[in-house]
Amino acid sequence: MSRKIDLQVHELVKRFDAFTAVDRVSFDVHQGKFFSILGPSGCGKTTLLRMISGFIEPTAGTIAIRGRDMLGIPPNKRPVNLIFQHLALFPMMNVAENIAFGLRRRGERGAVITQKVESILERVGLPGYGDKQVHQLSGGQRQRVAIARSLVLEPAVLLLDEPLGALDLKLREQMKVELKTLQAQVGTTFIYITHDQSEALIMSDFVAVMNKGRFEQMDKPQNLYAKPATPFVASFVGDNNAWDGMVTGRENDRVTVQTQNGNTCHIRTDQKFAPGDKVRVFLRPEAMLIEPDASIPSLNRFQVVVRSILFNGANSSILVHPREGTGQEKELIVALPQNRQYDHVKKGDVLEIGWDEKSGICFAGD
Ligand code: ATP
Repeated sequence: MSRKIDLQVHELVKRFDAFTAVDRVSFDVHQGKFFSILGPSGCGKTTLLRMISGFIEPTAGTIAIRGRDMLGIPPNKRPVNLIFQHLALFPMMNVAENIAFGLRRRGERGAVITQKVESILERVGLPGYGDKQVHQLSGGQRQRVAIARSLVLEPAVLLLDEPLGALDLKLREQMKVELKTLQAQVGTTFIYITHDQSEALIMSDFVAVMNKGRFEQMDKPQNLYAKPATPFVASFVGDNNAWDGMVTGRENDRVTVQTQNGNTCHIRTDQKFAPGDKVRVFLRPEAMLIEPDASIPSLNRFQVVVRSILFNGANSSILVHPREGTGQEKELIVALPQNRQYDHVKKGDVLEIGWDEKSGICFAGD
């Protein structure tokens, strides 16, 4: 069964004089999905969101919400609601009054409001919180009240502009999980913008990676990580080792790449590289195996010296550099397995590293 489409954006462009902030962006979001737009500061995320919410007019392209063209429709008449980083709850009002505010402005009155406020508080997991003052709430509870205040207006789409940005690290971690759970519970379509890849990967059904006004890849979080479509996506989503090289041989899908330091490695790729092509190779830290079993074929192997240990609990890693080098090679990051079998590794140790030919990702270089 195909789900309905809540938001359709087609060939959307926004120019500010000669500068193109959003450049022919197209995407559909199906009902009930958590869709994130992930990109660095200045890539055009906020501009895109402001066009959807109606605060700025597109230079070209169309936006349709639930099949209705939004051209010329003012923000307050669009079936969307926007939540900012600063939640902007009214400090002088209690929780119920905060939530009722939009309903009153829309002309609703009396028992209908009371019933809607109670029901939405229930849905966001804050039953009975209506009488509390805003200052009595934790950061996470304020977040939920802000969402309740938007959801009570029953928008087709909820737009969230880096809503966790102002929270401290611990609360942000907790809220990532809470927001995802909340979205699944209420079933409203969320469009979430962030520059934080871990937020996007953890919470979303789909993520669009945006760079310089364009979408470079739109995919499930797992695919963005495993099969990045461009070098930008590979370097922006997750940690990666990257190096430049040149193709020196090819046999079916197996290319031989000589790195700038004169080392050779083999990579399986479905791209049609030929000898002489410049390439950029990406490799995830966890794809590097420490002291791999000598019997495993298809591994690129080399010796490294440990430069430093990056302890981070279960996600610890080491920085290494190739042993035979001049000392000028870029350091490589190698994830340590979670079973702590390498607790004894220390700076200066020489280790053998191996990585499977299939785990390298190869793009055309420049
Ligand atoms: P951040 O995460 O820092 O908010 P962003 O990805 O949301 O960044 P935008 O705020 O959409 O980026 O801005 C995209 C680009 O458009 C930036 O280079 C910005 O300077 C430019 N820009 C945004 N609004 C205007 C405007 N009103 N006039 C001129 N340039 C603008």
